[in-house]
Amino acid sequence: MADTDRFKKVIAHAKEYGFVFQSSEIYDGLSAVYDYGQNGSELKENIKRYWKDSMVKLHENIVGIDSAIFMHPTVWKASGHVGAFNDPLIDNKDSKKRYRADVLIEDHIEKIHGKINKDVEKAKKRFGDSFNEKQFRETNQRIIDRQKKIDEILSRFKKATEEGNLAEIKQIIIDEGITCPVSGSKNWTDVRQFNLMFDTKLGSLSEDADKIYLRPETAQGIFVNYLNVQKTGRMKLPFGIAQIGKAFRNEIVARQFIFRMREFEQMEMQFFIRPGEEDKWFDYWKNLRMQWHKILGLGDENYRFHDHENLAHYAKAATDIEFNFPFGFKELEGIHSRTDFDLSQHQKFSGKKLQYFDPETNESYVPYVIETSIGVDRMFLAVLSNAFDEETIKKEDGKSETRTVLHIPPALAPVKAAILPLVKKDGLPEKAREVLNLLKYDFNCQYEEKDSIGKRYRRQDAIGTPFCITVDHQTLEDNTVTLRHRDSMSQDRIKIENLPAIIDKEVNFKNLFKKLV
Ligand code: ATP
Repeated sequence: MADTDRFKKVIAHAKEYGFVFQSSEIYDGLSAVYDYGQNGSELKENIKRYWKDSMVKLHENIVGIDSAIFMHPTVWKASGHVGAFNDPLIDNKDSKKRYRADVLIEDHIEKIHGKINKDVEKAKKRFGDSFNEKQFRETNQRIIDRQKKIDEILSRFKKATEEGNLAEIKQIIIDEGITCPVSGSKNWTDVRQFNLMFDTKLGSLSEDADKIYLRPETAQGIFVNYLNVQKTGRMKLPFGIAQIGKAFRNEIVARQFIFRMREFEQMEMQFFIRPGEEDKWFDYWKNLRMQWHKILGLGDENYRFHDHENLAHYAKAATDIEFNFPFGFKELEGIHSRTDFDLSQHQKFSGKKLQYFDPETNESYVPYVIETSIGVDRMFLAVLSNAFDEETIKKEDGKSETRTVLHIPPALAPVKAAILPLVKKDGLPEKAREVLNLLKYDFNCQYEEKDSIGKRYRRQDAIGTPFCITVDHQTLEDNTVTLRHRDSMSQDRIKIENLPAIIDKEVNFKNLFKKLV
C-alpha cells in the first residue's frame, strides 16, 4: 500500500470508529482543529497517563502541576514569544497556497537526502556483501556533490535566519528552483514574518483591557511556578516539574491531520539542575525518552534522533526524537538543554529572584534546565498510524478475507476487553454481565450481544481491543470462557477467576515500566 493511501485509510478509520472527528463538522469543520471521540479520548487519556506516571510515579524528584492557559502578558515578552515566535511565510501567487519558507527549504533538503540514499541502496545491491557504505559515501562523486549542496543550503539558511534576512530566505527558494507542490510554479511572494500566538482581551472593557495570549506552550507555566513548587515541595536540585495541557498556535500551514493543529496538547517536563551538569542530564533524558518510546513496541526502526544544527541562541543542545509517520520521519518529541535562559528572563522581567540556595556548595544560583516536550496528538498519531493494519486471512472454506485491525499496545488500547455472550438467550447474557462486573472496576470493558460472534470480533479488532471474552453454554457448566487474543486471533479456554490476572499482565503499565533501565 502506498504511504499516502495508507494515511488516507488511517484518517478515514479514525473517523469511522470514533477516534477523531473534524471539529464542528456539521458546520463544515474548522481547519486544523479536531475532536476526540469515544475511543480516541480513551486512547488519548491512556497516552497521557503513560507519560505522567513514567515521570511522576517513577521519579521521586519529579512532581506534576496544572497551570492556567492564560498568563500575564509579560510572561510572553520574557520568554521571547512576543518578539520572536514567528514563522517565515511565503505565498505562491498561482495556487494562492501559503507555506512556511523554512519547511519548503527543509523538504527540498530532504529530497536531496532521498537521492543520496537511493544511490547508496543501488550500490548496495550491485556490490553485495563486499559493499562498504562509509567508503562509498565518502568517495562517490555524485554523493559528495549532493552533500556539498545540502551543507551549502543549510549554512545559507542558518545565516539568513540568524540575521532575520527574509530576502535571502526567498533567494534560497529561487536559487534552488523550489516549486509550489500544488501549482508547480516558482511564482513566489516575498517572505514575511507571522507571529503564531493567538490573542484575546481580558476583562469586559475591551478598549482598555490588556491583550492576553492563549499559551503557545505549557513550559512557561512551569517556569513561573518554579519557586512555588521548589519552596512548598521543599525540592532539592535536581528536580523536575511535569505538566500536561492545551497549547495554541496559529499554524500557517496546518496539514497532515492531527500532526499540526492549531489547538493541541503538550506533555512537558522541565528538569532543574546545577549549572555544569547539563551535558550529563541531557544525555540521561535523551536516552530515557527514547526508551520510553521503544518499549511500547512500535518498532525500534521507526525512531531516530535528529540533532538540531540550528540552535536557538540560548540553547546548548537540542535533539528531536523523530518517528516514521506515514508521511516520513518527523518530529515527535523535543529534548532541549536550555541553560538558565528562561528563569533568568523571568527574573529580569518580574524583578523577583528565582534562585536556588545550594546547601552543598553554599551558593545561590539560577538553575539550568533540561526540557522534554512531546505533543499528545502527535503521539496519538504515531500509535494509531503504526497500529493500523489490513490483514489478509484465510477462512476455513479456503477463501480469503481482509481483517482491519489496530495493533495498539494493549496498555494504551481504549477498550481492554469485550464481553460477548454467544447468543442472546439461555441465561448467557446474565452470565456475561457477571463477568463484566468482575472486570469493570479494573479495566475499561465493553459488553456486546448484537450480531454474529465473528462480526463482533471484527468490530473489536477495528478499535484495537486486545481481548474478547466469549460466554457460551459451557460457561454455565464449568465457569470457563473463550479468551480470544487480538493479534494472533488464537483462543484459549480460561477459568473466569483467572481473567483479571491474565488481562492485567498485558495491560498494566507496570510491566512496560519495568523495561525502563
Ligand atoms: P514543529 O517544528 O513541528 O513545528 P516545534 O519544534 O515548533 O515543532 P516544539 O515547540 O518543540 O515544536 O513543541 C514540542 C512538541 O509539541 C513537538 O515535538 C510536537 O510533538 C508538539 N507540537 C508542536 N506544535 C504542534 C502542533 N501545531 N500540533 C500538534 N503538536 C504540536
